Amino acid sequence: MAEISAPRGVRDILPDESWKWAHVFRTIGETARNFGYSEVHLPIFEHTELFARGIGDTTDVVEKEMYTFTDKGGRSITLRPEATASMVRSYLEHRMDILPQPVKMWCTGPMFRYERPQKGRYRQFWQVDFESLGSPHPYADVEIIALSLEAFRRLGLTSLEVVINSVGCPACRPAYRKELSDYFASRSEELCGTCRDRLERNPLRILDCKREGCRKVTEDAPDVLGSLCEECREHFDSVRSGLDSLGAAYHIDKRLVRGLDYYTKTAYEVLSGALGSQNAVCGGGRYDNLAEAIGGPPVPGVGFAAGVDRIVMVMEQEGCSFGPEPLIDVFGVALDEPSRTELFRLVDALRRAGISADMDYGKRSMKAQMKSASSRKARFACIIGESEVAAGTVVVKNLQDGEQREIPVSDAPLDIRTQLLSTRKG
Ligand code: AMP
Repeated sequence: MAEISAPRGVRDILPDESWKWAHVFRTIGETARNFGYSEVHLPIFEHTELFARGIGDTTDVVEKEMYTFTDKGGRSITLRPEATASMVRSYLEHRMDILPQPVKMWCTGPMFRYERPQKGRYRQFWQVDFESLGSPHPYADVEIIALSLEAFRRLGLTSLEVVINSVGCPACRPAYRKELSDYFASRSEELCGTCRDRLERNPLRILDCKREGCRKVTEDAPDVLGSLCEECREHFDSVRSGLDSLGAAYHIDKRLVRGLDYYTKTAYEVLSGALGSQNAVCGGGRYDNLAEAIGGPPVPGVGFAAGVDRIVMVMEQEGCSFGPEPLIDVFGVALDEPSRTELFRLVDALRRAGISADMDYGKRSMKAQMKSASSRKARFACIIGESEVAAGTVVVKNLQDGEQREIPVSDAPLDIRTQLLSTRKG
């Protein structure tokens, strides 16, 4: 019907879905509080430089996927493709280094990436993003992983797989990088064009390529864990034993990488068997050199981002509960025009008493109004006609069992509230 539709890869989250999203945000927010994370609201656009430096200018995100424009003041601005760089920028800008460490924050909102849209992949998508800034301790990594798993558990997600790896640090990564680059060079004719291009610039990212041919080559690639320095190895062992002590199951995936220098040590992902090729619900890890990369002092950090669109998708597929659907309590039915004003006053009184109530304003038959009440799945219909107006009463009909009573209109808010509470408890 509309001449202008939403752009490709962008969608509306309508009422039949938005209440499910609210449940997801509520559950994640409660989990955040239990783990000591405070919510922050960050800008949707930032200086382009923040992402170029904070994500890395050899990544697909920065090279191909950013929505970048010049604003009227001539500045290069980018719609955020992720939240970690903004979170670290905010930490530095507000001198959170003088607060007790670590500073633990989370945020949610839309992210923007110019990717090829497909199931579970959009150009505007929502993430919840958690960051723990200021602690180099391996338990900070374990806490982040445990937090994501606990949020998913509370949401009822099953069939999840946790994969972890270590990507080393600037002390041990150059030697591994060289080893990897030599190995891939020896099999370069089997790699795709993009990966051949990555050979010099960033061979670690080849491990990440989803193309069949490249995946085959990576199977025999040198193992990053074999070349970790002592500090990185100890860190990885402590993360593993921390996860073991919490009873969290995981696999090690040596191909899991964050191919940039400021990502250090732990990398992890949570995958769902219920999704297709876009099977990651959450990804994260440690980035001890990111703050420096964006011009600050060294600040160790670890975090994760989870995709809300995908979480909801998996929950729907797995038949998880989103809590009670927010239905209307009362639908008002007026039998004639003069009664409509009385009904309007009653609906207003019900709303102010904390009862969700609605009515039609058009001239519609009683039958049509009762139909609206049932299609809105209202618990009660409040019916007012000429005789009720004269008597100062209302007919309250329970739409579940059909029972109806006539009561003084002034008693209706308390009466309906009591009935709603007693049935909710039962
Ligand atoms: P990343 O920031 O790429 O590590 O992504 C973290 C999480 O965000 C992924 O595990 C997905 O759940 C979600 N995600 C990333 N890109 C998209 C996208 N284009 N559409 C929907 N969800 C996404």
